Amino acid sequence: MARVINFSAGPAALPLSVLEYAQQEFLDHEGTGMSLIEHSHRGAAYAKVHEEAKALLRELMDIPETHAVLFMQGGATAQFALAPMNLRGPGESADYIMTGTWSNKALAEARITGDARVAGTGEVDGTYMRVPEQAGLELDSNAAYVHMTTNNTIVGTQFHRFPDTGDVPLVADMSSDILWRPIDVSKFGLIYAGAQKNLGPAGITVLILRKDLAGRSPDTIPKIFRYKTILEGDSLQNTIPTFAVYMVRTVLRWVKAQGGARAMEKRNREKARMIYGMIDGNPDFFRCPVEVDSRSVMNPVFRLPSEDLEKRLVADAAEAGMVGIKGHRSVGGIRTSMYNAMEPESVQKFVDFAQAFAKRHQ
Ligand SMILES: *Cc1c(COP(=O)(O)O)cnc(C)c1O
Repeated sequence: MARVINFSAGPAALPLSVLEYAQQEFLDHEGTGMSLIEHSHRGAAYAKVHEEAKALLRELMDIPETHAVLFMQGGATAQFALAPMNLRGPGESADYIMTGTWSNKALAEARITGDARVAGTGEVDGTYMRVPEQAGLELDSNAAYVHMTTNNTIVGTQFHRFPDTGDVPLVADMSSDILWRPIDVSKFGLIYAGAQKNLGPAGITVLILRKDLAGRSPDTIPKIFRYKTILEGDSLQNTIPTFAVYMVRTVLRWVKAQGGARAMEKRNREKARMIYGMIDGNPDFFRCPVEVDSRSVMNPVFRLPSEDLEKRLVADAAEAGMVGIKGHRSVGGIRTSMYNAMEPESVQKFVDFAQAFAKRHQ
């Protein structure tokens, strides 16, 4: 078996030990004589997985009692539509902080069902090479909530400080950086994240919801789309993708065994230092378009002197067993996504490879 080093932006690499664990007990889940995916979502075997997944996320993110952990389907994209439908009352407006493709999609969905305004943007001449500072925000104190994308998977920017929104709940799409380091969850009204980047496989979306906000869900939206329903039903109002939750649970066990959120931060910063060190150390060949204090720890992006050389790097890397480094089609260039599961040794291997490539082509 030859496993490659997978720098894909998502679905993304998972810890090998997690994949092996799932494989090893796939046919017989904890001695029950059947696979977890054959168990009822209301049975004891799955209930244990469900409870452990929630408890581990609570422990690892230090989630306060005021907040609930929920699971939904439809990805982060469904939350672009559901957050405004649930949290914004009739006649109310919501504030959006614009940082690229994903926040644009979130804003567009919010505008289908009501009022949403731009409260700040990182856009300059059509590109988003930095995230806005607090001073650049014009927040509406009557807004139903403020929406932000904490890590911008495509353009390679990340908020390293969260905006202060006062009494207005902060809603964050953390799809590509949830659990990358410790954060103060109490500052957020809602955090949502598709699992397939930092938490597990595609198919499940994790929500961390301040419980009182579930009271806002109006009766005018279908029951299955109300946060209130999901909270009251403990995410089991209908059949949940049991295997996806099981994988998230197993990834969270791995995070805990590594030392939790603090250990993830140390590991992720170390990887970022390697990549950005390589880029900044050879400015004649590598160039990161993102402003230094907005650089993403999870999705570093960079350019080479020509698109031909970028194509060549992608092809040579694949030959050397490193895949998924092609930048998003909307921005081009190179992107090395390195979520929690990415091993520092793998990043070092890529850096050595890219430096040798630079030497050959400089
Ligand atoms: C990947 C991604 C999404 C889209 O997630 P889906 O689960 O495919 O809907 C949304 N926001 C961010 C920040 C992402 O990285």
